[in-house]
Amino acid sequence: MDGVVFSIQRFSIHDGPGIRTTVFFKGCTLHCFWCHNPEGIRPKPDIQFFPERCIACNECVKACTHGATTLVNGIRVYDRSKCIVCGKCVETCYSGARILTGKHMTVDDVMSEVMQDRAFYETSGGGITLSGGEPIMQPDFARAVLERSKAEGISTAIETAGNVPWEFEERVLPFTDLIMMDIKHMDSAKHRWATGVPNERVLSTARHFAMTDKPIIFRIPVIPTVNDTVEEVGAIGSYIRDLIELRNQNGGDGDHTISLELLPFHKLAGDKYRSLDMDYRAKDLKIPTKAHMAELAEAAKTHQIEVRSR
Ligand code: SF4
Ligand code: SF4
Repeated sequence: MDGVVFSIQRFSIHDGPGIRTTVFFKGCTLHCFWCHNPEGIRPKPDIQFFPERCIACNECVKACTHGATTLVNGIRVYDRSKCIVCGKCVETCYSGARILTGKHMTVDDVMSEVMQDRAFYETSGGGITLSGGEPIMQPDFARAVLERSKAEGISTAIETAGNVPWEFEERVLPFTDLIMMDIKHMDSAKHRWATGVPNERVLSTARHFAMTDKPIIFRIPVIPTVNDTVEEVGAIGSYIRDLIELRNQNGGDGDHTISLELLPFHKLAGDKYRSLDMDYRAKDLKIPTKAHMAELAEAAKTHQIEVRSR
């Protein structure tokens, strides 16, 4: 059993409680125009190229036998359409200008990294988090990693956008201790404009999750021009309140197991977009102020839900 992973981040403190190891799965069903991890959007491995690190040694040109990296009038030209992502040029690029992002890993490969910080999980209340991209696009691999983690006594969490068939989410749930799920907009047309897909399946997944007994942290990435208004965050807060009531009606304790977190937009991904020849449409957006984030949190709290804001 293997899957495509583009990063494993140890000592993560923003992907769930305690100290965690976050495993980033490659491939996503959404194309949010502000995505902080654009290298996770395409499902297959990619070459990232950072021209500012290039020392013009031309080793990549010699290594490439597919005509994807060539010299044209003395200048290196990379043609992504001809690249088969064999990685040979990366092996010769000692300056780190070329990076292979995404590789096939087995469950054993992933677990050998995850197990290194086991002592920290135990003392901090942390564990493993599957993120991405959309980890549940690879449901069998995700399930296998989570199942092995649980067998090792490691706490597990998933970060999902919820835009996958429900049976995919169902496959991982028995081995998931904590669900973290994004909700980006309540209006389906606006959701499609911002993410490339409508929101019906996302909201349906949220309702399905609410009818389980798993702790859920819903998250709103607060993005200017998309959802950074009191009205929109209030509307999502109202929806979360409905989900809490749904859980309560099903015999659960929605008030203490479902919460909301607001995550401010940031602009750290610009270099990554350039390295992948992707258009960074969020480059001119302004970062929300702390005061504005606090105002949005208050709007959500009016619906009697627990709200945290970074
Ligand atoms: S191998 Fe790396 S450093 Fe050398 S020319 Fe190619 S991209 Fe630049
Ligand atoms: S990954 Fe392979 S095909 Fe693509 S540019 Fe490098 S050497 Fe050429």
